Amino acid sequence: MVPKVVFGEGCFDQLTSILSSHKKEKAPFIFLVDDVFEKNTEFLDRINLRFNDKLIFISAEEEPKTSQVDDLVKDIKAEFTYAPSGIIGIGGGTVMDLAKAVSIMLINKGSAADYQGWDLVKQKAVYHVGIPTISGTGAEVSRTTVLTGPVRKLGINSDFTPFDQVILDPDLTIGVPKNQWFYTGMDCFIHCVESLNGTFLNAFSQSYGEKAYDLCLEIFLGDSLSEEESRAKLMMASWHGGMSIAYSQVGVAHAMSYGLGYVLGTKHGVGNCIVFQHLEEFYPKDVALFKKMVEKHNIEIPQGICKNLSREQMETMITVALGMVPLWENALGSNWEAIITPEKLKELYLRM
Ligand code: NAD
Ligand code: ZN
Repeated sequence: MVPKVVFGEGCFDQLTSILSSHKKEKAPFIFLVDDVFEKNTEFLDRINLRFNDKLIFISAEEEPKTSQVDDLVKDIKAEFTYAPSGIIGIGGGTVMDLAKAVSIMLINKGSAADYQGWDLVKQKAVYHVGIPTISGTGAEVSRTTVLTGPVRKLGINSDFTPFDQVILDPDLTIGVPKNQWFYTGMDCFIHCVESLNGTFLNAFSQSYGEKAYDLCLEIFLGDSLSEEESRAKLMMASWHGGMSIAYSQVGVAHAMSYGLGYVLGTKHGVGNCIVFQHLEEFYPKDVALFKKMVEKHNIEIPQGICKNLSREQMETMITVALGMVPLWENALGSNWEAIITPEKLKELYLRM
């Protein structure tokens, strides 16, 4: 679990004092910052670069890759003699996952691809801090960093992955475009649905999942929240949703969304929405609620994206989705292979 967290509007300004006790001589802090802030001097002025600290802008155009992690680690090692005092990730799930992976790979040998899986990391990572600027993925609290590697899209799941410190400042999410707010927010809603309806559910996951689920209904279907309250509550929903799946698993929407992501590069949040709208048969009550949310906020969900897939692409998509064994087991039980056949997946994908 994340051992330290601060929360509240404006708490981002505590960053410098939080970092000061972790500063090691000659060893820089490396700030990985979403490049959406590149021209926002007012925001950048609040990041206090000292001594040899370095700020690297990261594009969230594509989701993180193992090769990107390896390149960043190589560059940092080439530039600095001493391992950094800390890595600070400021952005959405993309940048936070990169920050987690870079902090692991600065200490552990080889390529990030060698550690995709469960509990393969042996050495403690460099001190790392997560600062979300958009809410929903739960990447700020989770025990994984999802990376696309040469052969698979899979997380580095380990006890050394979670951040040492998280700063939750809802004001940082003020500039998020509406569609993106919805897509990433729905990632949280879908985490809760998949956890709460899964066979892996237990009291730990349920207690977090139910809280996050209720917050999502209040945020996306209610009418009583101010924008400020809504931002703060979505940040906490993301946190609780992330905690919920830490001790259970996601399900059908995530397995199929990974297939879309792998073959078409569809991003996580929107990919989950594209899939989820067609999953009435698995999550009837929640797909109906989801459709209400889409309508209420007048959101466009892309349609027809699988219409022109080649046979080969469709086969790859199905193979990637079927490869997510724990997700299917959670969603449908140990007999899942009798329910989800390649034909069934093809029929579902063709509706998307
Ligand atoms: P993202 O990080 O890709 O960001 C989405 C868009 O929002 C980007 O264009 C970004 O520049 C923009 N943005 C972010 N903050 C902004 C702000 N304050 N103002 C304006 N624009 C802003 O999206 P995401 O949905 O947060 O993350 C998706 C990634 O998270 C995927 O790579 C997925 O695999 C990963 N993920 C990880 C976990 C985990 O537990 N580690 C869980 C779920 C998803
Ligand atoms: Zn997700």
